[in-house]
Amino acid sequence: MKAAVLEQRGREGLVLRDVPVPVRRDGEVLLRVHAAGLNRVDLYMRDNGSGITHALPQTLGVEAAGVVAEADADSGLKPGQKAVVYSNAFCGVCRYCLAGDQPLCLRAHIMGEHRDGGFAQYVAMPARCVLPLPDHVDLVDAGALLAAYLTAWRMLFGKRALRPGETVLVVGVGGGVAVACLQLALHAGARVLVTSSSDEKLARALSLGAAGGVNYRREKVARRILELTGGEGVDMVIDSVGEASWDDSLRSLRRGGRLVTCGATTGSNPPADIQRLFIRQLEVYGSTGGSLEECRQLIALLASGAIRPVIDRRFALEDLTAAFDRLERGEQFGKLVLTMAS
Ligand SMILES: [Zn+2]
Repeated sequence: MKAAVLEQRGREGLVLRDVPVPVRRDGEVLLRVHAAGLNRVDLYMRDNGSGITHALPQTLGVEAAGVVAEADADSGLKPGQKAVVYSNAFCGVCRYCLAGDQPLCLRAHIMGEHRDGGFAQYVAMPARCVLPLPDHVDLVDAGALLAAYLTAWRMLFGKRALRPGETVLVVGVGGGVAVACLQLALHAGARVLVTSSSDEKLARALSLGAAGGVNYRREKVARRILELTGGEGVDMVIDSVGEASWDDSLRSLRRGGRLVTCGATTGSNPPADIQRLFIRQLEVYGSTGGSLEECRQLIALLASGAIRPVIDRRFALEDLTAAFDRLERGEQFGKLVLTMAS
């Protein structure tokens, strides 16, 4: 089969190769992959990968949707059935798994990080990580759902759930998680403000329903957000940018507001401004991935037609370098997806 294999670090080290179809172990499902979304973590794996235990060569890709090719008879899955992969091969027995909080699993093995991933014609994963889809669900939509949209779902609704009528600021709209947050927050009845360096991306966000946009290259973000909220500030900020936006994100919050982070693309060590945190009684918390239950809710939303992922562009697996280049340049609005020929 064809697969996107990382043989060595860097752009030239990720190559399309003919490799054997994975041998399915007991308890695993072999999925014929139709579509797999790209994510920032794929770039991190390609170029750095430190802190993630793995060996090269390795097939990348933390998402995959397709059709079941082989499964155990007692798995509840049948060959030919549409399915999507929950990328975290969780242990199922640690205290977090038992509490239904799989993203905190002590022995998590992530597809495309710790084991071979979805940028391939086939992938094998434990049956508990292969979630059936209704027949009418589009496999490209499903292949773009369980990384950015799942992350967004948990950020918005996981800990201190966004409520109808609240205002949320999504920093750096354009990336997969930010666009997902925009869509899901609107669906929940919230008012959404966005920032970007691109007027074109701000216009796209407004056309999707954002109530206001701030170009952070031209305007002071916190000052403009206060203007847009009658001087009060927003209830929640979604920030995956990190160091570069952190100060503005804290200053954009109302008293008692919360900042949720799921990434730090510009750096991990922003000023903390502890005085602002306690005087204004702000909350700051992190989020990564989502639970199986959150997957179920998200898949139900997709199946109902209430949400469709914004797909920026599809690339054939053979054009993976062009897809990675577009991701690296940050040109996309929404999800980039690789599709595999069967
Ligand atoms: Zn566990």
